Amino acid sequence: MIKHNHLRQLALTCLIVLLSQCQNKEPIHQLVQSRTDEIYDSLVAIRRDIHQHPEMSFKEYRTSNLVANYLESLDLEVHRNIGGTGVIGILQGAEEGKTIAWRADMDALASEYPDVVEFASLVEGVRHGCGHDVHTTIGLGLANVLSSIRHRLKGKVVFIFQPAEETPIVRVYSGAQAMIDDGLFNIVQPDELYATHISDFAVGKVSIYPGRLFAHLKPIIIKFNSDSDAEAIKKRIEDQLIKFNSHSTDLWEAMGDPKIGIFGDSTLFNDFVCSRVFEAEKDEQEYIIYGQLAGSDPEQLIATSKQIKEVISNISDSSNALEIEFGEDYYNHYNNPELSNLSRAFIRNLYGSTAIMRPHGLVPGSGDDFSILQENIPGGYYAIGGSNAKKGIISAPHSPNFAVDESAISYGVSYFSSLIIERLNSE
Ligand SMILES: [Zn+2]
Ligand SMILES: [Zn+2]
Repeated sequence: MIKHNHLRQLALTCLIVLLSQCQNKEPIHQLVQSRTDEIYDSLVAIRRDIHQHPEMSFKEYRTSNLVANYLESLDLEVHRNIGGTGVIGILQGAEEGKTIAWRADMDALASEYPDVVEFASLVEGVRHGCGHDVHTTIGLGLANVLSSIRHRLKGKVVFIFQPAEETPIVRVYSGAQAMIDDGLFNIVQPDELYATHISDFAVGKVSIYPGRLFAHLKPIIIKFNSDSDAEAIKKRIEDQLIKFNSHSTDLWEAMGDPKIGIFGDSTLFNDFVCSRVFEAEKDEQEYIIYGQLAGSDPEQLIATSKQIKEVISNISDSSNALEIEFGEDYYNHYNNPELSNLSRAFIRNLYGSTAIMRPHGLVPGSGDDFSILQENIPGGYYAIGGSNAKKGIISAPHSPNFAVDESAISYGVSYFSSLIIERLNSE
């Protein structure tokens, strides 16, 4: 009798364990995971191919062709050459419903830094140093996984592969605007729109942040006489600018710090002003130095920029003819708070609490032209981790040793496929 009771207890425990496992992942999300695992090696091969053949903004011909061919092979409705090299893929589900859009950027950047991977760039001076090869691959992976279960999908999924995200410090005509001007939103009318960018936190995690994500920003443009000693002037400018920083720590470097960084408990990113300047560029008449003034409070930023203007004018003389101006903040990301909170809770429930990173404060970055697409459509711009300390991989975009743990592709494809399914099924 006692034996029987034990057996019954054991059977009951097994049943509870099995049921709880089923609850963690509904069958459709299990399909997402198994399809992701199945195609992972092929996605890595695609990513490496794109990585070896990086293309600058608006010149993503090879990448764009690869993307369009891949989407066609999945039997999606494909529109090529939108806004130059942009591609749109439309996946129609089995029933009518909402339209959820996913955007990926495809361009690389000019870089003289050595590429720290075996499959290094074959194009001199051009490199995927911002991870757009990974973004493009995640976009293709999403299209593959979701098209494999299209008979179970309600509504439409739109994939937007965008040229020319890499814009300089001052606003230029970018790929998102080019696609809009070329009729993107006449072809598709998404109800919600999402994107991701690789970030330097640990692989396996995503950061889904409601509301404003990036700091307020003022581009700095400094011009001076081409006969001047550029290095000396740059140094003098930096020495002046540093006095206006709210913290002695370099905030751009401290972003990933476990304590004072953007995810740290003692974060410095809730209340700050900081600045940085880049290399001087020379044309026939003058040198130009670009910089950025970033901060958490827009009013304070205006006041600080006036003070900086005065100080910099004081180091101008007839020999260097120094001029400084501040541009306008141009990318204002805004993640719909309700959708971000829902997305965060959903990913946490499905993939566990360790999948979510929660930032404290604002990122002092220059943003992404995704914000232009976001202007009239609710959705979110979600960061995905690509670093792996054990492997010595640090995925801080634009840094000299930038690299990505490729399992970020697998996490991105499974998490965001599940998220898109969830949004299609929502009211
Ligand atoms: Zn970039
Ligand atoms: Zn980027």
